[in-house]
Amino acid sequence: MLFSEHNFIQKNSYAGSIEVICGSMFSGKTEELIRRMKRAQFAKLPIEIFKPAMDIRYDDHTVVSHDSNSIPSTSIVHSSAILLLSAETKVVGIDEAQFFDDELPNVCVQLANKGVRVIVAGLDMDYKGLPFGPIPSLMAMAEHVTKVHAVCVQCGAPAAYSYRIDASQDRILLGEKNSYEPRCRACYFRLSDT
Ligand SMILES: [Zn+2]
Repeated sequence: MLFSEHNFIQKNSYAGSIEVICGSMFSGKTEELIRRMKRAQFAKLPIEIFKPAMDIRYDDHTVVSHDSNSIPSTSIVHSSAILLLSAETKVVGIDEAQFFDDELPNVCVQLANKGVRVIVAGLDMDYKGLPFGPIPSLMAMAEHVTKVHAVCVQCGAPAAYSYRIDASQDRILLGEKNSYEPRCRACYFRLSDT
């Protein structure tokens, strides 16, 4: 996919930007997304939050983080719907972005080039420690990337990995506390055992 066709920026419109907030499970990604969106809301900017329709852990119309700090959101199936649903929006938030299709980076570029501030939150790695969905591309194209860290449950060090306790081999297993635990590199790869 070539992005140059979307690089035209209208005269008299300010340049938007892409921000990525990423990390493991329990690293506070959604909390940080909500914090930034609420600041935009205080500034009286029109905001919208989108999340993949498959995330049905909690209320389907609210982005809910683990500490129950929430903000209204719209669930969509394909990332292209974001363009249709955010015509008047100045700040677009996208949660659980790792579950979106590969068109998401292109959608974010189009929004940013129209002057929209795009804030994307998602898992940077899956439970195997591999780059997850559209997040790596978004990290490459973003102006700002924030990696947030959980705390390793084994040793207390900053944790960047989501270790799966559950035996399931499905890549997409929605995050519940009893299926994953955050681990640091040494504990994730069991480096002290070898
Ligand atoms: Zn550890």
